[in-house]
Amino acid sequence: MKRYNRKQFLKNTIVLTSTLSLILGESVLLGKEKKKEKQIFPLPEGEKPVSENDPTAQALGFHQNAEDTDFTLYPDRKQTKTKNQVCQYCAQFTKLNDGWGKCNILSAGVVSNQGWCSAWSKKS
Ligand code: SF4
Repeated sequence: MKRYNRKQFLKNTIVLTSTLSLILGESVLLGKEKKKEKQIFPLPEGEKPVSENDPTAQALGFHQNAEDTDFTLYPDRKQTKTKNQVCQYCAQFTKLNDGWGKCNILSAGVVSNQGWCSAWSKKS
């Protein structure tokens, strides 16, 4: 069995540490880039977001971010064809700015254009 001397041990440790630093650093950077992609739009003046705890919102499985949908309750939402089924393309949605709009069903505030609920129907 080959024995490592102190010099080899230090060399291997430095290489391993450098490699791990690069990998971890890359992951952190990628995470930051991903966060940058999501834009947060200011609420229209005088408006508040519809609460996801609102009883009607809960009954419809509403989330301000469609990605937060409970996929165990709505497994069809996992399909790629439902990707564009978000509030901004819903018949009940009226745009107020680039991020928010009014919903005819959940009217106690504004909904994100990236929201979703089970009452979604395609805007004609
Ligand atoms: S009805 Fe349409 S606009 Fe209203 S919350 Fe549901 S998906 Fe969004």
